[in-house]
Amino acid sequence: MEKLCIVVPCYNEEEMLPITVPALNDVLKDLVAKNKIDPESFVLYVDDGSKDQTWRKICELHETYPNACGLKLAGNVGHQFALTAGLLSAKDLCDVTVSIDADLQDDVAVIEEMIDKFHEGKDIVYGVRSDRKSDSFFKRVTAQGFYKVMEFMGVKTIYNHADFRLMSKRAVEQFSKYEETNLYLRGMMPLIGYETDSVFYERKTRVAGESKYPLKKMLALAWNGITSFSIKPIGFITGLGALIVCCSILAAIYALISYAWGHVVPGWTSLILSIWFIGGVQLLSIGLIGQYIGKIYIEVKHRPRYNIETLLK
Ligand code: UDP
Ligand code: MG
Repeated sequence: MEKLCIVVPCYNEEEMLPITVPALNDVLKDLVAKNKIDPESFVLYVDDGSKDQTWRKICELHETYPNACGLKLAGNVGHQFALTAGLLSAKDLCDVTVSIDADLQDDVAVIEEMIDKFHEGKDIVYGVRSDRKSDSFFKRVTAQGFYKVMEFMGVKTIYNHADFRLMSKRAVEQFSKYEETNLYLRGMMPLIGYETDSVFYERKTRVAGESKYPLKKMLALAWNGITSFSIKPIGFITGLGALIVCCSILAAIYALISYAWGHVVPGWTSLILSIWFIGGVQLLSIGLIGQYIGKIYIEVKHRPRYNIETLLK
């Protein structure tokens, strides 16, 4: 029987944990009773440098629920890194992992379905939202726009899948070889290439605490997703540059022909506008290239992506 580890990144989740821990304990108990997983299966709560009592809550709950284990990171590194820390630490302690957010907006009931698919031989099973009813109009529109942009940029992503997924031990092992610092897990998983499947569920609203993903962090994640997986934006500005050069050549020909015909093209305004426009495009282009160089700079330093303080097992 395979040992399951559910990995849960937690940042300031003291209000959510007293609800989440018993709920995930029930999930494990149920799966053990159905003989689907090893009785030694456990949940790994990763405290991502929380400022509140999250770690104390994890330690307290560990007394009541021995299968609720903890991993304390030395500082806040963000959801993607916290999840990576959890997965890579769990890799040596179990045979299969499931990652889920601490707020249980994702439906724990489909974990069983994930395990069934794992037993059928799938290495990665994606949890996919069947609808976005629980989202605000704004989040729905921006999220869908984002998937469209990613597709346009040529990045393989699973539509409406966040980081709720099952990964076999060998999938996590393969993932551990991707050592990049600019992490965008959703884009990386399809690169692993093992057999995958999806399960569908309706996402609920958060029952306690507030979202730790404000618009700023969401935009940062989306931007990171694009620039870590695609160099198409650089291609676009090259194309744009070529287009502007062509336009300016045409404008020069027009001005010369007009001059030959005896009338000068008037235009201080057009002159200033074109200087500003081209200046703007140049700045934008340099900035965009700078973004990629910045990423190279961060990657070559090869710093540790997270530091582990304590493992509570
Ligand atoms: N999270 C984290 N580190 C952070 C921010 C968030 O570990 O810096 C965790 C958080 O505790 C939660 C998950 O990431 O378990 C997703 O966050 P949240 O539910 O707030 O995002 P939303 O569902 O609103 O997109
Ligand atoms: Mg959430």
